[in-house]
Amino acid sequence: MADRDGLIWLDGELVPWRDAKVHVLTHTLHYGMGCFEGVRAYSTDEGPAIFRLQDHTQRLFNSAHILNMKMPYDQETLNDAQRLVIRENGLASAYIRPMVFLGSEGMGLRADNLQVHVMIAAWEWPSYMAPEAREQGIRIRTSSYTRHHVNITMCKAKANGNYINSMLALNEAMSCGYDEALLLDNEGYVAEGTGENLFIVRNGELHTPELTSCLDGITRRSILEFARELDIPVRERRITRDEIYIADEAFFTGTAAEVLPIRELDNRTIGKGSRGPITEQFQQMYFDAVEGRRERNRDWLTVAT
Ligand code: PMP
Repeated sequence: MADRDGLIWLDGELVPWRDAKVHVLTHTLHYGMGCFEGVRAYSTDEGPAIFRLQDHTQRLFNSAHILNMKMPYDQETLNDAQRLVIRENGLASAYIRPMVFLGSEGMGLRADNLQVHVMIAAWEWPSYMAPEAREQGIRIRTSSYTRHHVNITMCKAKANGNYINSMLALNEAMSCGYDEALLLDNEGYVAEGTGENLFIVRNGELHTPELTSCLDGITRRSILEFARELDIPVRERRITRDEIYIADEAFFTGTAAEVLPIRELDNRTIGKGSRGPITEQFQQMYFDAVEGRRERNRDWLTVAT
């Protein structure tokens, strides 16, 4: 990953990809105090367009605020920088990774007198799962790892260190032959995937866990808007894992995963065992929106050129 052509935005400047380096004593590398975003740009008739850029940047600033890290730039600068990175790397579509981290000016948990740095990289990253998963759905299993408790870490922050939990869970699921993990909260109710929010459909209604310990996903917000548009009743509430077993449909949402059907949880087939009709409808609306085919959601797109 580090050895390739291209440019990365680092602290206000475009740096050749191979030279965008930090010292081994970089504070965030040691303790995980940092925050990041995962953003996508899609190819549209008007050129590469970043999906819900302002919402992602706002969440990045919220994360930094929660972690008490003082942002050295304003939102507009980082929005412009993300567009610049797409343009300067000649990308038609991309995954964009902004990250805010503490420098190598000092060590220790006091973390005082440290500089806050910002980097933005972008590269082509077509599909998070095998392309056929969009139709056939994925197989997941309930994790032995619990999703963070709201007072153990800050769940509303997309914080670097939070992802140890996600990686342990995903690694466990994959080593057991599954595609993804489902994390329950500390009371045993469904929380989310390792990098996705979860929805189920039952009797024509859409259900999704409350945001208590889940990340406030931007794809999730988009699905909730689509449901309102389609007059599909939505219930944000506590969900148990066995409700997923007997759901008509289930799917994950996330910037990387997009809208991904779930066909099996803990070896129980969900619904008909492939993508359900409501999931398909949301998937269609989502791809139409991100690829600029929905006038109604045009304001979600920021053309990078
Ligand atoms: N939950 C977690 C833990 C995540 O990492 C992500 C990905 N950012 C999501 C949910 C989905 O969020 P979004 O739709 O904003 O990508």
